[in-house]
Amino acid sequence: MTPQNVLDLTRAVCDLESVSGAEGPLADAVESALRRLPHLEVLRDGDAVLARTALGRPERVVLAGHLDTVPINNNFPSTVVDDLIYGCGTSDMKSGVALALHLAATLPDPGYDVTYFFYEAEEIESKYNGLALVAEAHPEWLEADFAVLLEPTYGVVEAGCQGTLRALVRTHGRRAHTARAWRGVNAIHAAGEVLRRLEDYRPRTVTIDGCTYREGLNAVRISGGVAGNVVPDECTVEVNMRFAPDRTEKQALEHVQEVLEGFELELTDSAPGALPGLTAAPARDFLAAVGSEPAAKLGWTDVARFAALGIPALNYGPGDPLLAHAPDEHVEIGKIRDGAATLHRWLASPF
Ligand SMILES: [Zn+2]
Repeated sequence: MTPQNVLDLTRAVCDLESVSGAEGPLADAVESALRRLPHLEVLRDGDAVLARTALGRPERVVLAGHLDTVPINNNFPSTVVDDLIYGCGTSDMKSGVALALHLAATLPDPGYDVTYFFYEAEEIESKYNGLALVAEAHPEWLEADFAVLLEPTYGVVEAGCQGTLRALVRTHGRRAHTARAWRGVNAIHAAGEVLRRLEDYRPRTVTIDGCTYREGLNAVRISGGVAGNVVPDECTVEVNMRFAPDRTEKQALEHVQEVLEGFELELTDSAPGALPGLTAAPARDFLAAVGSEPAAKLGWTDVARFAALGIPALNYGPGDPLLAHAPDEHVEIGKIRDGAATLHRWLASPF
């Protein structure tokens, strides 16, 4: 890996296969590239690699990225066509990883202390997530005032993220032969009221720090029924709420309970949102360096894990999020160059 040239570096990172669970060779390469840099202290746990300056600056920022990709799909190794680099992980998010490595190598004297953090297993179940594991095992490694997650955003700042919860709504009835249906109570019919309330529901749109979040409450699955001649005694509607980060998980659940009042509701899964956190000084400087308006992140990302550690965080990366996980995944060379220039501008001279 030659960290000086960000494009060569992007291809080198892309051409080390690192499907979730098999990030070892890429983590080794990242670690040895970082260990060659005398201005950085390097730490490793599993396939998470961290490097940091210790310049005694008043504020510390994190540049973070996951090393893993989804399974390759006839798109490995990378290829270049005109000004596009094609290949697995080019957008999500090896071009972002390459940017962080490039900055680590080429900016020995940044205006902030910087922690560069690379981790495994973002694309799979959260119990394997390298950021979550390090946050648990070595929270002090991640101490910082602000974090940038270099996930694909096509060069736009995407701030905060929405929370998500899933719940099962159950209706009950009484079984009977459909030939004598009056003896039973139909649980599927009872679910009609659940669906009506969801259909009538008007989700909120909330603007925080200039970012507009759009909530949603949807039925995502429905099941019920015993046989073709039996009045069903149970029906289950699974609902998913995406909530703006001004609600806590508890408040979001209370809200769903209110909407579906009178029905039995079982929470099955929930993850908090993250406030955009654009008021922290390094965040304001970062926005000035990028020079465009931030947008709200509607999906759930690892910025929420930083937020849970009390570190405001946002997403900013060269890849196009619409191409993430796609077989024709690619990244624009111009976006990589712009990203490198922007991060240099920001880190070299805090405003
Ligand atoms: Zn990603």
